[in-house]
Amino acid sequence: MTIALLGLPQDNNASYLSGPALAPQRIREALWSDSANMFTETGLDLGDPTIWTDSGNVALEGLTGQSAYDAIYSAVTQRIAQGHRLVSLGGDHSIAFPVIHAHANAYEGLNILHIDAHPDLYDNMLDNKFSHASPFARLMETGKIARLVQVGIRTQNAHQKAQAEKFGVETHEMRDLSKLADLQFEGPVYLSFDLDALDPAFAPGVSHFEPGGLSTRQGLDIIQNFKGQLVGADVVELNPLRDANGMTAMVAAKLAKELIARLVADQDASDR
Ligand code: MN
Ligand code: MN
Repeated sequence: MTIALLGLPQDNNASYLSGPALAPQRIREALWSDSANMFTETGLDLGDPTIWTDSGNVALEGLTGQSAYDAIYSAVTQRIAQGHRLVSLGGDHSIAFPVIHAHANAYEGLNILHIDAHPDLYDNMLDNKFSHASPFARLMETGKIARLVQVGIRTQNAHQKAQAEKFGVETHEMRDLSKLADLQFEGPVYLSFDLDALDPAFAPGVSHFEPGGLSTRQGLDIIQNFKGQLVGADVVELNPLRDANGMTAMVAAKLAKELIARLVADQDASDR
């Protein structure tokens, strides 16, 4: 069983700016850049082609709403059925609804670890149920998610607070990160990483600047140290049109590398 990278170049569900559709290719370029080697911090050589494979981009050009949802859902379902564990590269955060829904149907009792400045729990944003502001509301409505744990939140309004309470979301706000060391899960975990969880100082290439965020190191710490079994992940909301010298693309590539390493480690542990 290999880890597969999957590009999801979609940004027509973003509420403010386009650009994230360009992200998968920029992240690949950063990943393969000669400026760094292919080892993860845990000592895994991602230059070894038996560890992971790049399964390309899902063709999303011209697709919106339900048709884009269906294309993503079926591409992800197919790769899971082939035995892959996926790191998906967005795209805006709307891709999380089809991607995680496919995982929830494949892994019973799926937990979500969602790292973001925003809760993305809007019932309805701009009359688009597929908006990047709503994927976690849609996922909770499926009834298939065991737990939704959100980290890095610093934009909760009254509506999103009510939605979090309605769905029983566990929120770790940025102003109170003291309990992060205790992040632990029973059963399979899907990790969704919105780059705007990071402080704009670390990740300026995003559409929504939200100061007061995580450092890159804190983001990596979460990936490497939460307790539970990772079965899938995404890195979303890179906006190359806002990036500075490709710096945020490099951050996204780094997160993807360490997510691959964590997927490999957790897969090896479950095979034993
Ligand atoms: Mn988000
Ligand atoms: Mn966000």
